Amino acid sequence: MKIEQADRLKALPPYLFAELDRMKAEVAARGIDIISLGVGDPDLPTLPNIVARLKTAVDNPVHHRYPSYEGMPSFRQAVAQWYGERFGVTLDPGHEVVSLIGSKEGIAHAPLAFINPGDVVLCPDPGYPVYTIGTMFAGGEAYIMPLSEENNFLPDLSAIPMDILDRAKIMFLNYPNNPTSAVATREFFEEAVAFATRNNILVCHDAAYTEVYYDDEPPMSFLQMPGAREVGIEFHSLSKTYNMTGWRIGWVCGNREAVNALGKIKTNIDSGIFQAVQEAGIEALQGDQQPVDDLRGIYQSRRDLACGFLSKAGFSFMAPKATFYVWVRTPEGLSSAQFAGRILTETGVVLTPGNGFGAHGEGYFRISLTVSEERLQEALERIGTVSW
Ligand SMILES: *Cc1c(COP(=O)(O)O)cnc(C)c1O
Repeated sequence: MKIEQADRLKALPPYLFAELDRMKAEVAARGIDIISLGVGDPDLPTLPNIVARLKTAVDNPVHHRYPSYEGMPSFRQAVAQWYGERFGVTLDPGHEVVSLIGSKEGIAHAPLAFINPGDVVLCPDPGYPVYTIGTMFAGGEAYIMPLSEENNFLPDLSAIPMDILDRAKIMFLNYPNNPTSAVATREFFEEAVAFATRNNILVCHDAAYTEVYYDDEPPMSFLQMPGAREVGIEFHSLSKTYNMTGWRIGWVCGNREAVNALGKIKTNIDSGIFQAVQEAGIEALQGDQQPVDDLRGIYQSRRDLACGFLSKAGFSFMAPKATFYVWVRTPEGLSSAQFAGRILTETGVVLTPGNGFGAHGEGYFRISLTVSEERLQEALERIGTVSW
């Protein structure tokens, strides 16, 4: 029997990193020590108090049964309390917070809750690929909002044509932004609320990086804007803040009807997060926050090291104010793939070519600061030996 894949799988964009993967295997086979500045996955372990809380919770048979779909009341309460303290945003944990199996899960499923075939979803480019793929899986049509350096990597909402606005149901935004590391201004968020209200578009804001920031300037939550709760939901996660990418725990919060709609999709697909992991999540949010500050300090030294080197080497980029990424222009005349390919084959350093995040990422590459300062220094020195 021939297994035929569904059209939605056949329609997936080609895997752009296949050629780089092949090169990487070849470089490794030559015995070269590979340093990956490619993936956005924190290198440091989850804090011991969080791990300890999981271990205790695992022993409690109460947690061995099906979890509640929308998350334990105590977890949603911890999220609401954290939002209150961090952003001054009041959330009703009973109706305005639902747990997610990592925010990626909620982002991927959100279009199923709001999109009918043919509806339009506004997606940033370059961007996290899940926005457009979730859209396609739901039968929606992604309309690309280019993020350009000239506009500080914010979309130009006034450039979206009327006929698109008529068909658009949701808009994905992500600040602090992956991959560009841009932070949204208050003015932009206010404009987004007005735009969404005027055009009846639900804002789905991906806030995964609000706690990874520099120079003591904490970024805002979209929900801090007046009127945001009428038009928007926010996806958040413990992954980046607490080095918990492997634990798969996050949440969606904000507009009650929208949170409820996504919850309805999830009730029919998954059965929630292992409660012992939710206990660990509570510990993360309610435990000592000093280590989060220390972690910011670690990323800050890495950022300063990388930016210092990149400036000296003549690269063009904006120093990040948040996220653990640096988004850098490729040298004149080299495409993203050509540049990443040359760096990999000649130095064994893995970078992410910008076109992997969409067509508007062409001409850039992304460095992830998720390696030790020592390895980062080594990688940068190697990059410095290549001439173009
Ligand atoms: C890492 C990341 C996420 C989500 O991570 P989860 O581990 O699924 O919570 C979401 N959005 C962006 C832009 C990310 O980089």
